[in-house]
Amino acid sequence: MKRSAKVSLVRWREAVEALRTLCPVRRYEVTIRRCKIPADDDGDCRQIGKHKLMVRVNKDLNEPVALEVLAHEYAHALSWDIEHERSVSHSSFWGVAYAECYRAVFNPKE
Ligand SMILES: [Zn+2]
Repeated sequence: MKRSAKVSLVRWREAVEALRTLCPVRRYEVTIRRCKIPADDDGDCRQIGKHKLMVRVNKDLNEPVALEVLAHEYAHALSWDIEHERSVSHSSFWGVAYAECYRAVFNPKE
């Protein structure tokens, strides 16, 4: 894992904004964080309480990887709307959500 080219704050905010605008999660309030995550985990999406989800991305990831992980984990939040915790299994709902999230992060103007 490279530690040199961490994601710029501007690019990160742009990606988060694009996700929230283009791929809104309706039933849950989603918190998105770049933070230290134990072990070699790149990120995760967890439910916290009844109506909240937390998306975490390892802050040590370099930019393209961090943004991909963000799209991946946010897609869990998006498909959580439909299938709740079953979303962790990378179902077809998750796959469709991932495609939308990927486009929002990497190609928002298309
Ligand atoms: Zn996943």
